[in-house]
Amino acid sequence: MQHNWSRYLRIIVIGLAAATLVGLYFGQPLYGLTAGLIVYLWWTLVQAKRLYQWLGNPAAADDAPQSIGLWGDIFDNLHKLHQSHLRTQDRLRAQINRVQESTNAMRDGVIMTDAKGAMEWWNGSAEYLLGFRRNTDHGQYIHNLIRTPAFKTYFDSRDYREPLEILSPAKPHIHLQVQISLFGDDDRLIVAKDITRLYQLEQMRRDFVGNVSHEMRTPLTVISGYLETLVDNAEDLPPKWRRAINTMSAQSSRMEALITDLILLSKIETGEQTVNDSPTDVNLLIEQICHDAKALSGEKEHEFSINVKDRRLLKGDESQLRSAFSNLIFNAVKYTPARGHITVTWSADREGAHLSVKDTGIGVDPIHIPRLTERFYRADPSRHKDTGGTGLGLAIVKHVLLNHDGNLEIRSHIGEGSEFICHFPRERLVERVPEKTE
Ligand code: ADP
Repeated sequence: MQHNWSRYLRIIVIGLAAATLVGLYFGQPLYGLTAGLIVYLWWTLVQAKRLYQWLGNPAAADDAPQSIGLWGDIFDNLHKLHQSHLRTQDRLRAQINRVQESTNAMRDGVIMTDAKGAMEWWNGSAEYLLGFRRNTDHGQYIHNLIRTPAFKTYFDSRDYREPLEILSPAKPHIHLQVQISLFGDDDRLIVAKDITRLYQLEQMRRDFVGNVSHEMRTPLTVISGYLETLVDNAEDLPPKWRRAINTMSAQSSRMEALITDLILLSKIETGEQTVNDSPTDVNLLIEQICHDAKALSGEKEHEFSINVKDRRLLKGDESQLRSAFSNLIFNAVKYTPARGHITVTWSADREGAHLSVKDTGIGVDPIHIPRLTERFYRADPSRHKDTGGTGLGLAIVKHVLLNHDGNLEIRSHIGEGSEFICHFPRERLVERVPEKTE
């Protein structure tokens, strides 16, 4: 390039020198030089005009203008640059088309929005699943098209670790699982998956467990009734039968407890027992449950402390809350050795209301904590076999809290006791109406 540049300079200088010599031949070297400069300037202007016209609309002509010398090289280089630009453009367009084709072939709905939720692009499945329209919905805010409040809260939360389940706004029989990812400049990639089949299977499972438990309850009540009568009249029985009858009676009571818990869990899960959001006096509830828990503790003589740090009421279903809190407090009794300490605290702060049940019992290894609320999960079956639990207590607690927009926190270490904390949102707290004095 450097080499060409000095060649061009040389040609220009030689040209101007030749023009000066021709001028000198006529006795006017300055006129010759001036005429040379004018010719060169004119030629440069003509080339600049051609370049200007071509740059204004390079697509109109296939090739860049042709020329010689410096301008020829400029045109050639620009032509090469333009060609490589076109090739890159074609390659990128092909790649974008391919990505769009593949996302269009996906069965999941894919939507791209900006940070505020304005829709930029979506695939065919999103049109089918969510009812978006290609011609009219571009640039619309997604919250205006998916009007479920839970979706808006999820979109704004920026915490997308867990997916959200909603009903399709266009086809209410379709259950969707929505997962958002952040990309680019705070933009959102939303993937909506049709989980209707999975939902129906889950519903069938719940119904099946609920129905079977119901059907088993009546025969079991009859068997338990007879066994109880036999136990009450044990002295009339031959001694070899007494132990068997006692064991059968204990096991049938256990089965009854299991069936009661299964029915309760299936009711809470299926929403058959709808959450009745009336104000519940948690203080009173704790006192009543602790009273029963002392009876359960019996000879183990646990020491109970009740701390009530907030007098407000909790909006919720009293019977569901009673099941949840009693499961936690009875568990504390079951898993705490004799004369251990059990502390129940009801408090509230900026984040919400909290019910904590803390014991000085056997505790659990933290590796089991994430799975404790699964049905029939036991941290260490060998250590817990005599507690007579159904294995469903914490699953019930978890579902009751889900129904109340809350969650369960578990802190525990082997040999150091455990703490189970139920967190409720602040909006569920209501002031106690002062009692009227006559
Ligand atoms: P279970 O009927 O077996 O008590 P739960 O669902 O109530 O069933 O509890 C599940 C498991 O969690 C228990 O088997 C036990 O291992 C553990 N667990 C629950 N509460 C406590 C506690 N207070 N201390 C230690 N372990 C506990």
